[in-house]
Amino acid sequence: MSREITSIKQIQEEACRELEAAADIETIKTLSVRYLGRKGFVTLFLRNVSNLPASERPTAGKQANKLKNFLAQEFENRIEELQEKAAQEERDENIDVTLPGRKGDKGSLHPITIIGNEICDIFLRIGFDIAEGPEIETDYYNFEALNIPKDHPARDMQDTFYTANNFVLRTHTSPMQARVMEKVKPPVKIIAPGKVYRCDSDITHTPMFHQVEGLVVDENISFADLKGVLTVFIGQIFDRDTKMRFRPSFFPFTEPSAEVDISCVMCGGKGCRVCSNTGWIEILGSGMVHPAVFENAGYDSKKYSGFAFGMGIERIAMLKYGIDDIRKFFENDIRFIGQF
Ligand SMILES: [Zn+2]
Repeated sequence: MSREITSIKQIQEEACRELEAAADIETIKTLSVRYLGRKGFVTLFLRNVSNLPASERPTAGKQANKLKNFLAQEFENRIEELQEKAAQEERDENIDVTLPGRKGDKGSLHPITIIGNEICDIFLRIGFDIAEGPEIETDYYNFEALNIPKDHPARDMQDTFYTANNFVLRTHTSPMQARVMEKVKPPVKIIAPGKVYRCDSDITHTPMFHQVEGLVVDENISFADLKGVLTVFIGQIFDRDTKMRFRPSFFPFTEPSAEVDISCVMCGGKGCRVCSNTGWIEILGSGMVHPAVFENAGYDSKKYSGFAFGMGIERIAMLKYGIDDIRKFFENDIRFIGQF
């Protein structure tokens, strides 16, 4: 650039041309000094404004300042552009195309979902239908229809979360017994899987857990039918050699009632910590439907009989997978739930 350049317009044209041609950051820094430095063209021009005719001074000063700001911004932009380009080139160079690709995490079904599906599949194969209903249930369906009146001590065993206006978070999926029987005439053969709630929290109890309830009603249904269905179920969900036994129990909605035990899946019946050295572990509750439950639903208890059973999905999953703390199912630790 020659010293003949005297007008702002000329300085600007020359600066832009040089900037356009600059290919690296060092060159741009040199240009910046050359135009905007202490002895730069723009600086000198500004310094000489006072020598211009008075009429030209304001415009010339204004234009020179404008150019000064414009060039400062242009130099900065161009430097940033080149820095970004250099960084990108470095990134490109560092890509090792021979490395194996990065795998994205794939989701998997939660163990409770897996076991729940397995349980449902077994019953579907032997002719059951699935019935689903509300988790926020009326006091009537959750308790009274199932022969648990308001002052019944069995309510203590199933203390739950009450919401306003006589609604509760259901303590079991048994309300579906009443809901289905109100709508359908026998024969009935359903299972009701779903979430249930109780005021409980320790190593084997959580405030929310999952249950599968079963109900069969027809003429001439007997305890032998209950045993037959559960034998098939237990043989399939555990293994064919698993033994089963009934133990007398009490539930308000069945009579007679029985707990069902299976030979310990950990020790095979020899006795261990899991089965408290008895060789047996309890897995579900069952019984013949109480006549009062039939009457509440409008069924003739003289004509029809039936059985019901209910099990916790977590309980079955813990036994199948050998898990000792129910809370692990709900902590959502991917290292745990990804194992199944
Ligand atoms: Zn055992």
